[in-house]
Amino acid sequence: MQEMILCKLGEVVLKGLNRRSFEDKLIANLRRRTAKCGSFRVYSKQSTIYVEPVNGDCDLDRAFDACRKVFGIIAVSRALPCEKDVQAIIATAKTYLHEQMSRARSFKVESKRADKNFPLTSIQLSQQVGGALHQAYPNMAVDVHHPELTVFIEIRDTAAYVHGPAVEGAGGLPLGMGGTAVSLLSGGIDSPVSSYMMARRGVALEMVHFFSPPYTSDAAKEKVLELAQKLAPWCGRMTVQIVPFTEIQEEIRRKCPEDFFTLIMRRFMMRIAGCVAQEVGAKALVTGECLGQVASQTMEALRVTEDAAELPVLRPLIGMDKEQIVRVARRIGTFDTSILPYEDCCTVFTPRHPKTKPHLDEVRKVESALDVDALVERALSQRERVRIKL
Ligand code: ATP
Ligand code: MG
Repeated sequence: MQEMILCKLGEVVLKGLNRRSFEDKLIANLRRRTAKCGSFRVYSKQSTIYVEPVNGDCDLDRAFDACRKVFGIIAVSRALPCEKDVQAIIATAKTYLHEQMSRARSFKVESKRADKNFPLTSIQLSQQVGGALHQAYPNMAVDVHHPELTVFIEIRDTAAYVHGPAVEGAGGLPLGMGGTAVSLLSGGIDSPVSSYMMARRGVALEMVHFFSPPYTSDAAKEKVLELAQKLAPWCGRMTVQIVPFTEIQEEIRRKCPEDFFTLIMRRFMMRIAGCVAQEVGAKALVTGECLGQVASQTMEALRVTEDAAELPVLRPLIGMDKEQIVRVARRIGTFDTSILPYEDCCTVFTPRHPKTKPHLDEVRKVESALDVDALVERALSQRERVRIKL
Protein backbone atom coordinates (compact mmCIF):
# COMPACT_ATOMS: atom_id res chain seq x y z
CA MET A 1 0.00 0.00 0.00
CA GLN A 2 1.14 3.55 -0.74
CA GLU A 3 2.02 6.33 1.64
CA MET A 4 -0.75 8.92 1.89
CA ILE A 5 -1.91 12.02 3.79
CA LEU A 6 -4.42 12.23 6.64
CA CYS A 7 -6.07 15.60 7.31
CA LYS A 8 -7.95 16.15 10.57
CA LEU A 9 -10.97 18.40 10.41
CA GLY A 10 -10.93 21.49 12.62
CA GLU A 11 -13.89 23.65 13.57
CA VAL A 12 -15.90 22.03 10.78
CA VAL A 13 -16.79 19.22 13.18
CA LEU A 14 -18.67 21.72 15.37
CA LYS A 15 -21.09 22.54 12.57
CA GLY A 16 -24.45 20.92 13.08
CA LEU A 17 -26.73 20.49 10.09
CA ASN A 18 -24.34 22.44 7.87
CA ARG A 19 -21.47 20.11 8.45
CA ARG A 20 -21.92 18.21 5.19
CA SER A 21 -21.63 21.35 3.08
CA PHE A 22 -18.52 22.47 4.98
CA GLU A 23 -16.93 19.07 4.45
CA ASP A 24 -17.81 19.02 0.76
CA LYS A 25 -16.24 22.44 0.32
CA LEU A 26 -13.13 21.33 2.16
CA ILE A 27 -12.79 18.24 -0.02
CA ALA A 28 -13.23 20.32 -3.18
CA ASN A 29 -10.55 22.76 -1.96
CA LEU A 30 -8.15 19.92 -1.14
CA ARG A 31 -8.72 18.36 -4.56
CA ARG A 32 -7.97 21.61 -6.31
CA ARG A 33 -4.81 22.29 -4.27
CA THR A 34 -3.39 18.80 -4.64
CA ALA A 35 -4.31 18.40 -8.32
CA LYS A 36 -1.06 20.05 -9.40
CA CYS A 37 0.97 17.48 -7.43
CA GLY A 38 -0.46 14.41 -9.19
CA SER A 39 -3.64 12.31 -9.16
CA PHE A 40 -5.09 11.88 -5.71
CA ARG A 41 -8.26 10.32 -4.38
CA VAL A 42 -9.67 12.68 -1.76
CA TYR A 43 -12.51 11.53 0.48
CA SER A 44 -13.70 11.91 4.06
CA LYS A 45 -14.51 9.39 6.71
CA GLN A 46 -14.80 9.63 10.47
CA SER A 47 -13.71 13.31 10.81
CA THR A 48 -10.63 12.71 8.69
CA ILE A 49 -9.98 13.48 5.06
CA TYR A 50 -7.87 10.96 3.19
CA VAL A 51 -5.61 12.14 0.39
CA GLU A 52 -4.41 9.02 -1.40
CA PRO A 53 -2.08 8.90 -4.38
CA VAL A 54 -3.72 7.06 -7.26
CA ASN A 55 -0.42 6.11 -8.89
CA GLY A 56 3.34 6.39 -8.44
CA ASP A 57 3.64 9.77 -10.18
CA CYS A 58 2.43 11.81 -7.22
CA ASP A 59 4.66 14.32 -5.47
CA LEU A 60 3.70 13.60 -1.88
CA ASP A 61 6.04 16.22 -0.39
CA ARG A 62 4.41 19.00 -2.37
CA ALA A 63 0.91 17.67 -1.75
CA PHE A 64 1.66 17.58 1.98
CA ASP A 65 2.77 21.23 1.91
CA ALA A 66 -0.34 22.17 -0.04
CA CYS A 67 -2.60 20.39 2.48
CA ARG A 68 -0.97 22.30 5.33
CA LYS A 69 -2.19 25.53 3.78
CA VAL A 70 -5.80 24.51 3.28
CA PHE A 71 -8.09 26.22 5.78
CA GLY A 72 -10.43 23.99 7.79
CA ILE A 73 -7.81 21.43 8.74
CA ILE A 74 -6.12 21.43 12.15
CA ALA A 75 -3.56 18.65 11.75
CA VAL A 76 -1.90 16.88 8.86
CA SER A 77 0.15 13.71 8.91
CA ARG A 78 1.70 11.36 6.43
CA ALA A 79 0.70 7.77 7.05
CA LEU A 80 1.34 4.32 5.67
CA PRO A 81 -1.68 2.04 5.44
CA CYS A 82 -1.34 -1.71 6.01
CA GLU A 83 -3.40 -4.79 6.65
CA LYS A 84 -5.44 -4.81 9.87
CA ASP A 85 -3.26 -7.37 11.55
CA VAL A 86 -0.94 -6.88 14.53
CA GLN A 87 2.13 -8.40 12.88
CA ALA A 88 1.60 -6.35 9.73
CA ILE A 89 1.22 -3.22 11.84
CA ILE A 90 4.46 -3.91 13.73
CA ALA A 91 6.37 -4.61 10.51
CA THR A 92 4.99 -1.43 8.92
CA ALA A 93 5.92 0.70 11.93
CA LYS A 94 9.47 -0.71 11.89
CA THR A 95 10.12 0.17 8.28
CA TYR A 96 8.06 3.35 8.04
CA LEU A 97 9.22 5.04 11.25
CA HIS A 98 12.67 3.44 11.41
CA GLU A 99 14.61 6.69 11.32
CA GLN A 100 12.58 8.41 14.03
CA MET A 101 12.65 5.32 16.24
CA SER A 102 16.41 4.94 15.92
CA ARG A 103 16.88 8.46 17.23
CA ALA A 104 14.19 8.72 19.93
CA ARG A 105 15.04 8.17 23.59
CA SER A 106 11.46 7.57 24.67
CA PHE A 107 8.21 6.66 23.00
CA LYS A 108 4.66 5.49 23.36
CA VAL A 109 2.12 3.93 21.05
CA GLU A 110 -1.30 5.49 20.79
CA SER A 111 -4.02 3.46 19.11
CA LYS A 112 -7.47 4.41 17.93
CA ARG A 113 -10.02 1.90 16.83
CA ALA A 114 -12.76 3.22 14.60
CA ASP A 115 -13.48 -0.33 13.45
CA LYS A 116 -15.01 -1.88 16.56
CA ASN A 117 -14.79 -5.38 15.03
CA PHE A 118 -11.03 -5.38 15.35
CA PRO A 119 -10.23 -8.20 17.82
CA LEU A 120 -8.00 -6.18 20.19
CA THR A 121 -8.94 -3.13 22.26
CA SER A 122 -6.94 0.05 21.71
CA ILE A 123 -5.00 -0.57 24.92
CA GLN A 124 -4.17 -4.18 24.00
CA LEU A 125 -3.03 -3.11 20.56
CA SER A 126 -0.81 -0.34 21.97
CA GLN A 127 0.72 -2.79 24.43
CA GLN A 128 1.48 -5.44 21.83
CA VAL A 129 2.92 -3.05 19.26
CA GLY A 130 4.76 -1.06 21.96
CA GLY A 131 6.35 -4.22 23.34
CA ALA A 132 7.58 -5.32 19.93
CA LEU A 133 8.98 -1.89 19.07
CA HIS A 134 10.69 -1.57 22.43
CA GLN A 135 12.42 -4.90 21.80
CA ALA A 136 13.51 -3.85 18.32
CA TYR A 137 14.66 -0.38 19.46
CA PRO A 138 16.11 -0.68 22.97
CA ASN A 139 17.28 2.97 22.69
CA MET A 140 13.67 4.01 23.29
CA ALA A 141 12.28 3.80 26.81
CA VAL A 142 8.53 3.63 27.21
CA ASP A 143 7.17 6.91 28.52
CA VAL A 144 3.41 7.31 28.37
CA HIS A 145 3.41 10.86 29.80
CA HIS A 146 6.09 12.84 27.95
CA PRO A 147 7.39 10.68 25.12
CA GLU A 148 9.78 12.10 22.57
CA LEU A 149 8.03 10.11 19.84
CA THR A 150 4.43 8.96 19.63
CA VAL A 151 3.65 6.19 17.20
CA PHE A 152 0.03 6.44 16.11
CA ILE A 153 -2.03 3.51 14.92
CA GLU A 154 -5.52 3.96 13.60
CA ILE A 155 -7.70 1.02 12.77
CA ARG A 156 -10.24 2.16 10.24
CA ASP A 157 -12.77 0.45 7.98
CA THR A 158 -10.53 -0.63 5.15
CA ALA A 159 -7.02 -0.58 6.61
CA ALA A 160 -4.77 0.17 9.56
CA TYR A 161 -2.76 3.40 9.35
CA VAL A 162 0.62 3.95 10.95
CA HIS A 163 2.00 7.44 11.39
CA GLY A 164 4.27 9.60 13.50
CA PRO A 165 3.27 12.94 15.05
CA ALA A 166 1.01 15.16 12.99
CA VAL A 167 2.01 18.72 12.15
CA GLU A 168 -0.26 21.68 12.66
CA GLY A 169 -2.68 22.48 9.85
CA ALA A 170 -3.84 25.92 8.73
CA GLY A 171 -6.90 25.98 11.02
CA GLY A 172 -9.89 28.19 10.28
CA LEU A 173 -12.81 27.37 8.01
CA PRO A 174 -12.95 26.12 4.40
CA LEU A 175 -12.33 28.88 1.90
CA GLY A 176 -15.55 29.95 0.24
CA MET A 177 -17.87 29.08 3.14
CA GLY A 178 -17.71 32.64 4.46
CA GLY A 179 -18.76 34.30 1.23
CA THR A 180 -16.66 36.78 -0.74
CA ALA A 181 -15.08 40.07 0.28
CA VAL A 182 -13.02 42.69 -1.52
CA SER A 183 -9.61 43.07 0.09
CA LEU A 184 -7.64 46.30 -0.33
CA LEU A 185 -4.13 45.11 -0.99
CA SER A 186 -1.26 47.56 -0.76
CA GLY A 187 2.40 46.67 -0.97
CA GLY A 188 2.83 46.94 2.80
CA ILE A 189 3.14 44.40 5.59
CA ASP A 190 -0.38 44.71 6.92
CA SER A 191 -2.82 44.13 4.10
CA PRO A 192 -1.40 40.72 3.04
CA VAL A 193 -1.84 39.63 6.67
CA SER A 194 -5.39 40.98 6.89
CA SER A 195 -6.22 39.17 3.64
CA TYR A 196 -4.80 35.93 4.99
CA MET A 197 -6.77 36.31 8.23
CA MET A 198 -10.10 36.74 6.49
CA ALA A 199 -9.38 33.87 4.08
CA ARG A 200 -8.69 31.78 7.15
CA ARG A 201 -12.24 32.44 8.28
CA GLY A 202 -13.48 31.02 5.00
CA VAL A 203 -13.80 34.25 3.03
CA ALA A 204 -12.89 34.16 -0.67
CA LEU A 205 -11.16 37.37 -1.75
CA GLU A 206 -11.18 39.67 -4.72
CA MET A 207 -8.14 41.96 -4.46
CA VAL A 208 -8.09 45.65 -5.29
CA HIS A 209 -4.89 47.64 -5.60
CA PHE A 210 -4.60 51.36 -6.27
CA PHE A 211 -1.58 52.63 -8.13
CA SER A 212 -0.52 56.09 -9.17
CA PRO A 213 1.75 56.22 -12.18
CA PRO A 214 4.09 57.99 -12.66
CA TYR A 215 4.38 58.63 -8.92
CA THR A 216 4.46 54.90 -8.28
CA SER A 217 6.56 52.67 -10.52
CA ASP A 218 5.87 49.45 -12.39
CA ALA A 219 8.11 47.72 -9.87
CA ALA A 220 5.68 48.72 -7.12
CA LYS A 221 2.84 47.12 -9.07
CA GLU A 222 4.88 43.97 -9.66
CA LYS A 223 5.54 43.81 -5.95
CA VAL A 224 1.82 43.72 -5.21
CA LEU A 225 1.29 40.97 -7.77
CA GLU A 226 4.12 39.02 -6.15
CA LEU A 227 2.41 39.42 -2.79
CA ALA A 228 -0.82 38.13 -4.28
CA GLN A 229 1.08 35.15 -5.68
CA LYS A 230 2.51 34.42 -2.24
CA LEU A 231 -0.98 34.59 -0.76
CA ALA A 232 -2.43 32.20 -3.35
CA PRO A 233 -1.48 28.94 -1.57
CA TRP A 234 -3.58 30.21 1.37
CA CYS A 235 -6.24 32.36 -0.28
CA GLY A 236 -6.64 30.31 -3.46
CA ARG A 237 -6.87 31.56 -7.02
CA MET A 238 -7.79 35.20 -7.14
CA THR A 239 -8.08 38.26 -9.30
CA VAL A 240 -6.21 41.46 -8.55
CA GLN A 241 -7.98 44.50 -9.91
CA ILE A 242 -5.48 47.28 -10.41
CA VAL A 243 -7.13 50.68 -10.33
CA PRO A 244 -5.38 53.86 -11.51
CA PHE A 245 -5.52 56.46 -8.78
CA THR A 246 -3.41 59.30 -10.13
CA GLU A 247 -6.23 61.49 -11.39
CA ILE A 248 -8.11 61.22 -8.10
CA GLN A 249 -5.04 62.08 -6.08
CA GLU A 250 -4.14 65.04 -8.26
CA GLU A 251 -7.69 66.30 -8.13
CA ILE A 252 -7.79 66.09 -4.33
CA ARG A 253 -4.49 67.92 -4.14
CA ARG A 254 -5.77 70.62 -6.41
CA LYS A 255 -9.13 71.19 -4.76
CA CYS A 256 -8.93 70.19 -1.08
CA PRO A 257 -6.90 71.50 1.86
CA GLU A 258 -3.73 69.51 2.41
CA ASP A 259 -4.65 68.25 5.90
CA PHE A 260 -7.59 66.32 4.46
CA PHE A 261 -5.71 64.68 1.64
CA THR A 262 -5.26 61.19 3.10
CA LEU A 263 -8.78 60.96 4.50
CA ILE A 264 -10.45 61.91 1.27
CA MET A 265 -8.18 59.58 -0.65
CA ARG A 266 -9.18 56.75 1.66
CA ARG A 267 -12.85 57.55 1.16
CA PHE A 268 -12.30 57.13 -2.58
CA MET A 269 -10.69 53.78 -1.96
CA MET A 270 -13.80 52.67 -0.06
CA ARG A 271 -16.14 53.81 -2.80
CA ILE A 272 -14.20 52.13 -5.58
CA ALA A 273 -13.77 48.91 -3.61
CA GLY A 274 -17.52 49.05 -2.93
CA CYS A 275 -18.27 49.19 -6.65
CA VAL A 276 -16.01 46.21 -7.25
CA ALA A 277 -17.78 44.39 -4.42
CA GLN A 278 -21.12 44.97 -6.05
CA GLU A 279 -19.86 43.56 -9.36
CA VAL A 280 -18.45 40.38 -7.86
CA GLY A 281 -21.18 39.87 -5.27
CA ALA A 282 -18.90 40.54 -2.30
CA LYS A 283 -20.52 41.30 1.04
CA ALA A 284 -17.73 43.21 2.82
CA LEU A 285 -14.47 45.12 2.40
CA VAL A 286 -11.22 44.12 4.12
CA THR A 287 -8.37 46.45 5.07
CA GLY A 288 -5.13 46.13 7.00
CA GLU A 289 -5.97 49.05 9.25
CA CYS A 290 -4.91 48.86 12.86
CA LEU A 291 -6.04 51.24 15.59
CA GLY A 292 -3.60 54.08 16.19
CA GLN A 293 -0.95 52.88 13.75
CA VAL A 294 -0.98 56.07 11.67
CA ALA A 295 -2.98 59.32 11.60
CA SER A 296 -5.61 57.84 9.28
CA GLN A 297 -6.23 54.99 11.71
CA THR A 298 -7.50 56.84 14.78
CA MET A 299 -11.07 56.08 15.76
CA GLU A 300 -12.24 59.42 14.33
CA ALA A 301 -10.39 58.86 11.06
CA LEU A 302 -11.76 55.33 10.70
CA ARG A 303 -15.25 56.72 11.20
CA VAL A 304 -14.71 59.23 8.40
CA THR A 305 -13.28 56.59 6.08
CA GLU A 306 -16.01 54.09 6.80
CA ASP A 307 -18.69 56.66 6.11
CA ALA A 308 -17.87 56.35 2.41
CA ALA A 309 -18.33 52.57 2.45
CA GLU A 310 -21.73 51.01 2.09
CA LEU A 311 -20.61 47.54 3.08
CA PRO A 312 -19.11 46.49 6.42
CA VAL A 313 -15.36 47.15 6.58
CA LEU A 314 -13.59 44.19 8.17
CA ARG A 315 -10.31 45.05 9.86
CA PRO A 316 -8.89 41.85 11.29
CA LEU A 317 -5.69 43.59 12.48
CA ILE A 318 -7.50 46.29 14.45
CA GLY A 319 -6.22 45.22 17.89
CA MET A 320 -2.86 43.74 16.94
CA ASP A 321 0.61 45.15 17.62
CA LYS A 322 2.97 45.60 14.71
CA GLU A 323 5.18 42.89 16.16
CA GLN A 324 2.37 40.36 16.06
CA ILE A 325 1.48 41.33 12.51
CA VAL A 326 5.10 40.91 11.43
CA ARG A 327 5.20 37.48 13.02
CA VAL A 328 2.23 36.35 10.93
CA ALA A 329 3.69 37.96 7.79
CA ARG A 330 6.89 35.97 8.27
CA ARG A 331 5.05 32.74 8.90
CA ILE A 332 2.88 33.00 5.79
CA GLY A 333 5.81 34.10 3.65
CA THR A 334 4.81 37.63 2.62
CA PHE A 335 7.17 39.63 4.84
CA ASP A 336 10.27 39.60 2.63
CA THR A 337 8.30 40.92 -0.33
CA SER A 338 6.44 43.50 1.77
CA ILE A 339 9.65 45.15 2.95
CA LEU A 340 11.02 45.67 -0.57
CA PRO A 341 11.46 49.42 -0.83
CA TYR A 342 8.89 50.52 -3.40
CA GLU A 343 6.59 53.48 -3.01
CA ASP A 344 2.84 53.11 -2.43
CA CYS A 345 0.19 55.54 -3.59
CA CYS A 346 -0.45 56.36 0.09
CA THR A 347 3.01 57.82 0.38
CA VAL A 348 2.44 60.15 -2.56
CA PHE A 349 1.42 63.68 -1.48
CA THR A 350 1.21 62.82 2.23
CA PRO A 351 0.17 65.88 4.22
CA ARG A 352 2.64 67.35 6.71
CA HIS A 353 -0.06 67.63 9.38
CA PRO A 354 -2.76 65.04 8.69
CA LYS A 355 -5.94 65.44 10.70
CA THR A 356 -6.05 62.87 13.49
CA LYS A 357 -9.44 63.97 14.84
CA PRO A 358 -11.40 64.87 11.72
CA HIS A 359 -15.07 65.82 11.77
CA LEU A 360 -17.24 64.06 9.26
CA ASP A 361 -19.24 67.18 8.32
CA GLU A 362 -16.08 69.10 7.61
CA VAL A 363 -14.66 66.29 5.45
CA ARG A 364 -17.87 65.97 3.48
CA LYS A 365 -17.92 69.71 2.89
CA VAL A 366 -14.33 69.79 1.70
CA GLU A 367 -14.99 66.81 -0.53
CA SER A 368 -17.98 68.48 -2.19
CA ALA A 369 -15.50 70.43 -4.32
CA LEU A 370 -14.90 67.20 -6.25
CA ASP A 371 -16.99 65.40 -8.85
CA VAL A 372 -16.82 62.18 -6.88
CA ASP A 373 -19.01 59.98 -9.09
CA ALA A 374 -17.23 60.90 -12.31
CA LEU A 375 -13.80 60.32 -10.76
CA VAL A 376 -14.84 56.93 -9.42
CA GLU A 377 -16.35 55.90 -12.71
CA ARG A 378 -13.28 56.90 -14.71
CA ALA A 379 -10.90 55.08 -12.38
CA LEU A 380 -13.04 51.95 -12.60
CA SER A 381 -13.22 52.10 -16.37
CA GLN A 382 -9.42 52.14 -16.64
CA ARG A 383 -8.64 49.26 -14.34
CA GLU A 384 -6.65 46.22 -15.27
CA ARG A 385 -7.46 42.71 -14.07
CA VAL A 386 -4.71 40.21 -13.33
CA ARG A 387 -5.52 36.56 -12.63
CA ILE A 388 -3.34 34.94 -9.99
CA LYS A 389 -3.14 31.19 -10.38
CA LEU A 390 -2.07 28.67 -7.78
P1 ATP B 1 -0.08 48.27 4.70
O1 ATP B 1 1.12 47.82 5.47
O2 ATP B 1 -1.03 47.17 4.40
O3 ATP B 1 0.32 49.08 3.49
P2 ATP B 1 -0.33 50.63 6.25
O4 ATP B 1 -0.07 50.48 7.66
O5 ATP B 1 0.74 51.17 5.37
O6 ATP B 1 -0.87 49.26 5.67
P3 ATP B 1 -2.14 52.60 5.17
O7 ATP B 1 -1.16 52.95 4.12
O8 ATP B 1 -2.79 53.69 5.92
O9 ATP B 1 -1.57 51.60 6.25
O10 ATP B 1 -3.27 51.71 4.54
C1 ATP B 1 -4.25 51.13 5.33
C2 ATP B 1 -4.97 50.07 4.52
O11 ATP B 1 -5.52 50.64 3.33
C3 ATP B 1 -4.02 49.01 3.99
O12 ATP B 1 -3.78 48.00 4.94
C4 ATP B 1 -4.77 48.51 2.79
O13 ATP B 1 -5.82 47.62 3.16
C5 ATP B 1 -5.39 49.78 2.25
N1 ATP B 1 -4.48 50.39 1.24
C6 ATP B 1 -3.52 51.30 1.42
N2 ATP B 1 -2.89 51.59 0.27
C7 ATP B 1 -3.48 50.83 -0.68
C8 ATP B 1 -3.28 50.65 -2.09
N3 ATP B 1 -2.35 51.31 -2.75
N4 ATP B 1 -4.06 49.78 -2.74
C9 ATP B 1 -5.01 49.09 -2.07
N5 ATP B 1 -5.24 49.21 -0.76
C10 ATP B 1 -4.49 50.06 -0.06
MG1 MG C 1 0.47 51.09 3.10
